[in-house]
Amino acid sequence: MSNKSRKTKKKKKSLDGEKKFHNFYSGVYGERWETLKTSLLKEKEHILLANPYSDFKCSFKPWFDFPNAYVAQEELESPGNGPLAPYYFMDGASYLAPYFLNPQKGDKVLDLCAAPGGKSLVLAYMLKGLGHLTSNDKSMDRRLRMQRVLRGYLPENIMEESVRITGFDASGWCLYEQEAYDKILLDVPCSSEKHVLQSSSHLNEWSEKRTKKLAALQWKMLASSWLVLRPGGRLVYSTCSISPYENDTVVEKLTRKFEVNVIKDSFDGGEETEYGKIFLPDQSNLGPFYLSILEKPIQ
Ligand code: SAM
Repeated sequence: MSNKSRKTKKKKKSLDGEKKFHNFYSGVYGERWETLKTSLLKEKEHILLANPYSDFKCSFKPWFDFPNAYVAQEELESPGNGPLAPYYFMDGASYLAPYFLNPQKGDKVLDLCAAPGGKSLVLAYMLKGLGHLTSNDKSMDRRLRMQRVLRGYLPENIMEESVRITGFDASGWCLYEQEAYDKILLDVPCSSEKHVLQSSSHLNEWSEKRTKKLAALQWKMLASSWLVLRPGGRLVYSTCSISPYENDTVVEKLTRKFEVNVIKDSFDGGEETEYGKIFLPDQSNLGPFYLSILEKPIQ
């Protein structure tokens, strides 16, 4: 093939990817798509997660009454002089996934796709060293980043005694352990359309097949995690995708295969879906973020 025809073919593929992306999402969101798309490209407010183990005293407005969470303001106070990092920024909706996992004293908690570690930090702060947290991620680079985050934000004794970092494939965990954890957070790899929109190369490569392929991986991970959860335990499934394939459809499949109690959260924000809640930035200034809270009945 000549260089010229190769270039023309590439350009055609590019146009196709972008067009397919917009056609697909305007099919899902209808007239709302244009405003939703604009909002996905805007910088959003973040919340500040204050480190309870540092000497940082946050004077910002608390974010609702969630532990250690504040409305992030532009001007930051002095971070303090302690050895531990004073604060971490995150999207508010992302905070809700570990919060609604509701880790309690003595719980064995598994964060299966944990890097770079923001949600693991919320879990560790809620556990207060009184339970055990396993933070897992298959990617070595991202795992190393998470290790730096957790070491930078948690006291040494907590890291030593109640946190473990692992690098296994979440979709095969059930082959090694079953009914072993009280609480599981499954914040899966997803389409992340916000990032697709920001990158012309990702946009060019987009196809509906991709979101379906990710949904198949997410299903594998969810089905495996469900076996790893102990009866009476809770699992939170979350994504930052706006594709229905990757959200309610994955959870629906679980409810068809297993007995599952779907729990409705008490947070007054986001939009209810059949199996959870979605936060879309055109309406809530949070997200995009989807979460579903699931409990395994005691037989
Ligand atoms: N929970 C993280 C946080 O709050 O900082 C973000 C997680 S990100 C959405 C998804 C993660 O899943 C990525 O870090 C990726 O490396 C990891 N991942 C992808 N495939 C995986 C697999 N098969 N098993 C375990 N982790 C995987």
